[in-house]
Amino acid sequence: MKGHATNLSVGNCPQCAGPLDFKLKSSVQCVCPYCGSLVAREGDSLRNFGVCADVLASVSPLRLGTMGIHHQRSFEVIGRRQITWEHGFWEEWHVAFGKSENGWLTDAQGCYAFLRPTLTPPQNVSRDVKRGHRFSFSGKSFEVVDVKKARVSAVEGELPSVTPLGRPFVSIDCVDAKAHLCTVEFAESERVCSLGAYVLPSGLELRFTREDCNEWR
Ligand SMILES: [Zn+2]
Repeated sequence: MKGHATNLSVGNCPQCAGPLDFKLKSSVQCVCPYCGSLVAREGDSLRNFGVCADVLASVSPLRLGTMGIHHQRSFEVIGRRQITWEHGFWEEWHVAFGKSENGWLTDAQGCYAFLRPTLTPPQNVSRDVKRGHRFSFSGKSFEVVDVKKARVSAVEGELPSVTPLGRPFVSIDCVDAKAHLCTVEFAESERVCSLGAYVLPSGLELRFTREDCNEWR
């Protein structure tokens, strides 16, 4: 049945023995839905990273299980990161396209963007870059519009990488004239870049939102 494919079983939670499964083969970490432990896959075994902090109450209509369409392709929200900074928090929703492709749908006060990780980050952006810095990357001309110190404060569902909760990082947002978005995160020696574009929520044909499920407020 389309949309009801069997999830990949990855074993039992090291804390509560509840059965854990992933929708995406590439996911490596999840929050146990039974006990709230943060569990990561390491080869064939599962490691417990302790109980994950609760996600903060959010105004986003998105939730785990929300489905939508992007570029004529169906996606499902399967995880989220809540990222706290000086003036509040924003959310990045991990989405699955089928069983093997993923992306991020970010929601910053109703401003949505779809992003995918890039293999190589831009070399001409440093962690101490200032707003207004311009650079070329992936055939586009970007300008740095925001530089924030942030940390991942909570996660939910399944995630594509092991997320160190509370570790500070520098988040840099860059845009071009055609609503493309490039984000770069600097944490310790790591540098992670994602590339995408702003999207209008009305074009995503969202279903199973919090509103649909009577969880709105
Ligand atoms: Zn558990």
